[in-house]
Amino acid sequence: MRTLLSGGTVISMDPAVGDLGRGDVLITDGVITEVAARIDAPDAEVIDATDRIVLPGFVDTHRHTWQTAFRGIGADWTFAEYRTAMHGTLKPHYSPEDIYLGNLLGRLEALNSGVTTMLDWFHANQSPEHADAAWQGLKDAPARSVFALCAGAGPDRPVDEAELGRFAADGLVTLALAWRGPQLTTMDIAAADLRLAGEVGLRTSVHVGSGGARGSRPVSAMREHGLLHENTTFIHANGVEDDELRMLADAGCSVSISPDVEVKMGFGWPETGRMLAAGLRPTFSIDDCPSAGGDMFATLRTAFAVQRGLDGSLNSRDLLEFATVDGARACGLFARTGSLTPGKDADIVLLRADDLSVFPFNNPAGTIVAAGHPGLVDTVVVAGRVVKRDGALVGVDLPTLRSRILESRNRIAAAAGIPLDGSWRPRTESE
Ligand SMILES: [Zn+2]
Repeated sequence: MRTLLSGGTVISMDPAVGDLGRGDVLITDGVITEVAARIDAPDAEVIDATDRIVLPGFVDTHRHTWQTAFRGIGADWTFAEYRTAMHGTLKPHYSPEDIYLGNLLGRLEALNSGVTTMLDWFHANQSPEHADAAWQGLKDAPARSVFALCAGAGPDRPVDEAELGRFAADGLVTLALAWRGPQLTTMDIAAADLRLAGEVGLRTSVHVGSGGARGSRPVSAMREHGLLHENTTFIHANGVEDDELRMLADAGCSVSISPDVEVKMGFGWPETGRMLAAGLRPTFSIDDCPSAGGDMFATLRTAFAVQRGLDGSLNSRDLLEFATVDGARACGLFARTGSLTPGKDADIVLLRADDLSVFPFNNPAGTIVAAGHPGLVDTVVVAGRVVKRDGALVGVDLPTLRSRILESRNRIAAAAGIPLDGSWRPRTESE
């Protein structure tokens, strides 16, 4: 089966392909087979890309998707308040069904805004049924997802291989270990968990430099214990010193920056510029939707504005690379996605260039970063399948999902006795 995206402005994010002011993209059985100014494919289904910007789908390298039903209630929270609210107060009331709905809605929302690949960092793993529900939520969204399971029965117990063995890559959903690391367990248990991930062939993703680790040289300590591995993505890394960032680069690690959450919750400035200087390629993540928006456009804009404010560095093309090719690398999926490269799966987004918010569309990369928003996302293709067309997700029963989510949210909020209007500022240990 062949599909031709015809007559769009193509930003391939592949230097060998380049950009095309007017270009076609041919998809054959889910795979990009040609990108050129004009392609003759009379048997292909044609999608008219006139007045559309054609670019690879975005990659979100870390999101706690289960929290989606509480979107926005933590816009004013500190990190301590977030932790108390989501993990202390609300999480215990989550049933597997609530987890499923949060993950499904969150994954669809990301997809709707052009995030074709997303890593779900799942840390509401109260039972095997909760983990199964999170997995199923990702499975039921027609998107490419990495289920990063935060396994391990308590901070003093290493991960059991059987717990990971319950899941196996299935279609577009693959598995990773959401690694607790020394921030959430001991150095010895962190080492055992990392060893196990390596044995079973899983990538790992770990938080570092957030939540009180500032000044403690966490990366240096991990290196001393042999815990820096090329298959690990380090999230945030705010306050991590320059020589430690170089240690991450030397070990071939990836990094994930969550600009809105980091600035608002006091982690420090997003480390985009310092990571580049150390030889790392940043990637971006949403982190959590109670306190931040869920789309990549706003994420790019915050990161860009902060780094420009700090030192005037970066340009809009850099930002798009972090959000596509570099994100794909950090998910271990560079061979499959992240650029419009013949041979890769067709994970593609078409943005409306004729929308009044961006018209006339003069400088594609610059305009996407400076003025892009989810309302521009007209068409989304994942592995060759059109999952959003003419601005609407295909085959998704949103009215039913909406009512189920509201029921879930209302039940949890009632059980926890909390308001949803933003007035809830949970009492934290430090107060
Ligand atoms: Zn996180």
